[in-house]
Amino acid sequence: MQIILLHHTPLEVCAHAIRTCWQSFDNSDEGGEKDKALIDRVGNKFKHASTLEHLVYTFYIQGVSRALLQELARHRMASLSVKSTRYTLKELKECEPFEEQDYKGASKFIVLTATEAVNTASIKALNNLQAILKSGTSNDIAKYCLPESYKTELTWTINARSLQNFLSLRSSKSALWEIRDLAHTIYEKLPNEHQYLFEECMYKEK
Ligand SMILES: Cc1cc2nc3c(=O)[nH]c(=O)nc-3n(C[C@H](O)[C@H](O)[C@H](O)COP(=O)(O)OP(=O)(O)OC[C@H]3O[C@@H](n4cnc5c(N)ncnc54)[C@H](O)[C@@H]3O)c2cc1C
Repeated sequence: MQIILLHHTPLEVCAHAIRTCWQSFDNSDEGGEKDKALIDRVGNKFKHASTLEHLVYTFYIQGVSRALLQELARHRMASLSVKSTRYTLKELKECEPFEEQDYKGASKFIVLTATEAVNTASIKALNNLQAILKSGTSNDIAKYCLPESYKTELTWTINARSLQNFLSLRSSKSALWEIRDLAHTIYEKLPNEHQYLFEECMYKEK
């Protein structure tokens, strides 16, 4: 998977929102250590967590499976714009069928696992779908036999409060391996000065 952080709100904006409540703007150090401590104290420790909603992050997420997508889409406090199979299956139709062991070629379209039998089954499903597309079946009908391993991409926008919830649930050992990888990579892609707000949410091996 590839993840790019496209945009984020400066910490200063969240500190400004918090300082609005007490009209304490003069105490700001414009997103410096004082403001960072304030955000942590009010947003996390005092649980005035709605203030964290002023921090918003937009990520471009590529090369994840549709199995992961359906789990990611359960996080309602986020916005998604997803690559449409209805409009993009042409890219598969124009390829040649893949050899059973052609992991390199097939990995353009499917997420591979550590289990060979699953990968081989995914390649067969990919070839079946391709044959159906080549026979002239429309994308709208052919998409019903997409394997869950089929790759997709999306632009994902989420605020800090909801991202804390996402990272707590999905960095955990009990989460699906692929979304767990996503959670850890998302954390790594956050601006360094923002990571302290999410550190507690990340699952740590005991
Ligand atoms: C390990 C694991 C296993 C899972 N297994 C399954 C499964 O087998 N089947 C399945 O269907 N789902 C499963 N899920 C998905 C899970 O039930 C949640 O849908 C998903 O994790 C999103 O969490 P969320 O609702 O907290 O997030 P969001 O939808 O982003 O919501 C964020 C927060 O807003 C609040 N909120 C949002 N909507 C409401 C509402 N309607 N009412 C009250 N408060 C609300 C809650 O505080 C919520 O925590 C699993 C999740 C995990 C982490």
